[in-house]
Amino acid sequence: MTEPAMKFDTLAVHAGQAPDPATGAIMTPVYLTSTYVQEAPEKHKGFDYSRTAHPTRLALEGNLAALEGGRFGICFASGVAAISAVIQTLSPGDHVVCGRDVYGGTYRVFKRHFERFGVRFSFVETSDPAAVEKAILPETKLAWIETPSNPLLRVTDIRAVCRLASGRGVRVAVDNTFASPALQNPLRLGAHLVVHSTTKYLGGHSDVIGGCVVTDDAGLHENLRFIQNSLGAVPGPLDCFLVLRGTKTLSVRMKRHCENAATLARRLSRHPDAAAVHYPGLPAHPGHATAAAQMSGFGGMISFELHGGLERAKRMVSRTKVFALAESLGGVESLVSHPASMTHGAIPREERIKSGLSDGLIRLSVGIEDIDDLTRDLEAAIAASRP
Ligand SMILES: *Cc1c(COP(=O)(O)O)cnc(C)c1O
Repeated sequence: MTEPAMKFDTLAVHAGQAPDPATGAIMTPVYLTSTYVQEAPEKHKGFDYSRTAHPTRLALEGNLAALEGGRFGICFASGVAAISAVIQTLSPGDHVVCGRDVYGGTYRVFKRHFERFGVRFSFVETSDPAAVEKAILPETKLAWIETPSNPLLRVTDIRAVCRLASGRGVRVAVDNTFASPALQNPLRLGAHLVVHSTTKYLGGHSDVIGGCVVTDDAGLHENLRFIQNSLGAVPGPLDCFLVLRGTKTLSVRMKRHCENAATLARRLSRHPDAAAVHYPGLPAHPGHATAAAQMSGFGGMISFELHGGLERAKRMVSRTKVFALAESLGGVESLVSHPASMTHGAIPREERIKSGLSDGLIRLSVGIEDIDDLTRDLEAAIAASRP
């Protein structure tokens, strides 16, 4: 179980899990059950119905809470279900200050779904804390940050935003999907809520969809539990097992993701065909110092532009052989994508361009393969995409 004295890598393997009391099984069983036999009405072992609480899910919730250094973990059926649960703690009339450069599905659910229920959103450049401060209204209840952001890898100073938001009664939620808890722990920097798409680095093997919220706030936790049970967007037992298995190797995977991405980013930044390279680990990146201060590694995500814009980008992403052309990120295998037409297609073009997401931007999720093969693949695809 969670021992606060233990270090991250030990928690990753053990937190939330104990040998199965019935059999001694060292791995948490996938409890395929919807209900639980009670000794007498309301006399049971802590579980009465699997939407409300589930043993495999409970183990995962304990594990993820420990990895984020928080008291409470609450798991959902997907990252956007976790994001939605946080917004569902708000009421009509409430206002949210949100990063401009966020996951496309976050923008979509905020703008096209929650605005219909009277929650209002302002999208601002959160890498500039002054812009966040300026956007805060008397009705503002929440600041929503993604750092590093998707897909431009912009870095927001979590401490700075928390400082100015807390002073004004605004809670701060951080989507920590890109960094993973192995590289960044927003609760320790002052955030009230951390959100993950566990589909990505936490699962790590591109075989599951899931999400979670972690918080230290008992009131928020109670509210989120109520929402989890009432709205019912819960993950299945096997999904929980897969994420629980993924987190055991999170730390070792992240080290390799970071090493490989740093090497590729350096190469790209010196490449004559590259017009721009976004990677927080590059000293020239505007968020480099902040990232170095709040992260223990710069992550496995890179985005870049080639001279030649949209047409060149489309040719390049179709010519890689090791990097697979696909949405998503954070798995052991390398992926390449074209955000404007894929992950961020839900954002109107005008909004996209305004936030700096050009039509020609290419995004890489750098996997844990051999760096020589990745480098060769990328350079060959860039060469093959020349007009
Ligand atoms: C993928 C992703 C999400 C959404 O998660 P799903 O599991 O796909 O619902 C949210 N935020 C970020 C940063 C993501 O990359």
